[in-house]
Amino acid sequence: MRYSALRVIKEALTGHKGWTPAWRDVAPQAHYDYIVIGGGGHGLATAYYLARNHGAKRVAVLEKGWIGGGNVGRNTTIIRSNYLLDGNEPFYEHSLKLWEGLEQDLNYNAMVSQRGILNLIHSDAQRDAFTRRGNAMILNGADADLLSTKTIQKRYPFLNVDNARFPIKGGLAQHRGGTVRHDAVAWGYARAADQLGVDIIQNCEVTGFRIEGGACLGVDTSRGYIAGGKIAACVAGSSGRLMSKAGMRLPIESHVLQAFVSEGLKPVLPGVITFGAGHFYCSQSDKGGLVFGGDIDGYNSYAQRGNLPVVEDVCEGAMAIFPMLGRVRLLRMWGGIMDMSMDGSPIIDRTHIDGLYFNGGWCYGGFKATPASGWCYAHLGHGYPA
Ligand SMILES: Cc1cc2nc3c(=O)[nH]c(=O)nc-3n(C[C@H](O)[C@H](O)[C@H](O)COP(=O)(O)OP(=O)(O)OC[C@H]3O[C@@H](n4cnc5c(N)ncnc54)[C@H](O)[C@@H]3O)c2cc1C
Repeated sequence: MRYSALRVIKEALTGHKGWTPAWRDVAPQAHYDYIVIGGGGHGLATAYYLARNHGAKRVAVLEKGWIGGGNVGRNTTIIRSNYLLDGNEPFYEHSLKLWEGLEQDLNYNAMVSQRGILNLIHSDAQRDAFTRRGNAMILNGADADLLSTKTIQKRYPFLNVDNARFPIKGGLAQHRGGTVRHDAVAWGYARAADQLGVDIIQNCEVTGFRIEGGACLGVDTSRGYIAGGKIAACVAGSSGRLMSKAGMRLPIESHVLQAFVSEGLKPVLPGVITFGAGHFYCSQSDKGGLVFGGDIDGYNSYAQRGNLPVVEDVCEGAMAIFPMLGRVRLLRMWGGIMDMSMDGSPIIDRTHIDGLYFNGGWCYGGFKATPASGWCYAHLGHGYPA
């Protein structure tokens, strides 16, 4: 079924009886050509691009919980490509371009909103660093705009520009950055992958790997053994735990990162703003809640909930630049598990075990990478013989 305005009108007039499930609920088969472990954004995008870009036919996504229950449905929804290094910028720009066409591609409203992102500058040295970053972005074909304090004051009158501990001395804006409704990304990829024949299997935890003669032949799951031609691990914060079942010790630590939502407000915040002198960033959802976050909880954990010291730290950051937030009530908060690599760089690669691939280490920035990560992982997996 294709979604369209006409379809919505027709269903509204006929009692909404014609909608079908967004994806099939299938039982696992005995063998697949490709098994993607983890039904987060990256896993679902990988399965989708395997089918769409490479015509892969027998593809399964195995998810231990439900689609969208991991970080893909827990993040603060920001997309951007404002990176400095040559290895990063083209990758994230590729991702941003995929975001720009994603809803048409998937035929799904993911609420992609290019409302812009502004990184605040608080010192002369930081201005130099952001100028360099902006130039690197432009050289790689992305957009970047260095804003003066005066322009920022005019556009964002609620910011505490000159009477704060860290006065605002300008900002680096990427106007094509913005937000995307996070769980809709999971649903959109799941539906589009399903329509190309991918089996999306929820409540199916991978509990072990069958490895013989240096090759991975399949996976043991909570729903039985499933053989696979190629097996692609893609489990974000659970990377260390999963890969240990294949005897691998990864250079990745798992940490909690918290997100916060305030009560609904009238439109006050036109885009995403990040504080440059502490860990705090904020945007406003279409429902009106301010969505914000800050630093990770500084200890290793697999719990999807955080602790109060970080709440205090984030709220202090908020008050430092947005004094108006002092009267806003916090509505809810939650945590997700971050797969922190030692140098902050993600990994998309083969492993030393034939047929077993690994994608992870996205730290706290993997949502924006979702389309490009799936695209590249599918390309890698398809390109190598099983
Ligand atoms: C609070 C917070 C805010 C963030 N904000 C941003 C942001 O604004 N912008 C940005 O770019 N990034 C952000 N991130 C990071 C981003 O969300 C992650 O890097 C990204 O979502 C990780 O990829 P994923 O979607 O595939 O992960 P997940 O959705 O976590 O997918 C992994 C899946 O694997 C499943 N799984 C685990 N073990 C197994 C197993 N043994 N068998 C089967 N399935 C298994 C899990 O249940 C899970 O569904 C944020 C993260 C958090 C927590």
